[in-house]
Amino acid sequence: MKALYEGKCKELFSTEINGELIQLFKDDTTAFDGKKHEVLANKGVLNCAISSFIFEKLHQSDIATHYIRREKNAEMRVHHLNMMPVEIVVRNVAAGSICRRLGLKEGSVLPRPLTELFYKSDELGDPLINEEHADMFGWANKEDVATMFKIALNVNQALCKLFNNVGIQLIDYKLEFGKTKDGSIVLGDEITPDACRLWDQITGKKLDKDVFRQDLGGLTEVYHEVASRLGVTVEMSS
Ligand code: UDP
Repeated sequence: MKALYEGKCKELFSTEINGELIQLFKDDTTAFDGKKHEVLANKGVLNCAISSFIFEKLHQSDIATHYIRREKNAEMRVHHLNMMPVEIVVRNVAAGSICRRLGLKEGSVLPRPLTELFYKSDELGDPLINEEHADMFGWANKEDVATMFKIALNVNQALCKLFNNVGIQLIDYKLEFGKTKDGSIVLGDEITPDACRLWDQITGKKLDKDVFRQDLGGLTEVYHEVASRLGVTVEMSS
């Protein structure tokens, strides 16, 4: 397989079928723009299994994604998308950057789900932007942003239900979108505890990458807990 792209935590390979790629979830774990980095055994396979399960659930809710199927180990087969250079963050509860930006108290429930737009740029630290910026600089036009926000809110409904059923509060998460050959906007990338904040509904225990960012204990143990609660089976190497 030919590597097309290597990111901090994932790699994309071409396949024998035109328009289908393998997305490989790596064991590499990074935070603070890559300043903190560790390789954690089985993190890739856990993320691949969790994301595959979630994409399958989204398909059952008629939400289109790039996901085709789970392959062996940490590999996922996906449709090739032309990725948009923006990220959408959906928030149900205040945490992370919105608390620093707006002085909100961590853990305060927002009056309704909030969608935010960020420009993907490592150099600039992924700045928060609005629809005007996205349109003006050609990153996504207003119709594209409206479509992504609408899909993001549909995703939110499905995910809140899914996590709520297993005693987990979905605080916030990041989504990335791309366009198919015919120009329709589809959800891409991943939905994993690397890109979400997940708190135990009763104890508030963190079950996501904040465990790594804040040195709160073993990261793969909590990802395994998320997988088990969702009923996802993962074959891990010892
Ligand atoms: N997030 C992500 N990748 C990014 C930026 C954010 O996966 O490049 C996720 C992050 O894990 C959290 C949510 O998006 O679940 C909101 O992140 P926030 O804006 O609060 O930034 P943070 O303080 O986490 O850097």
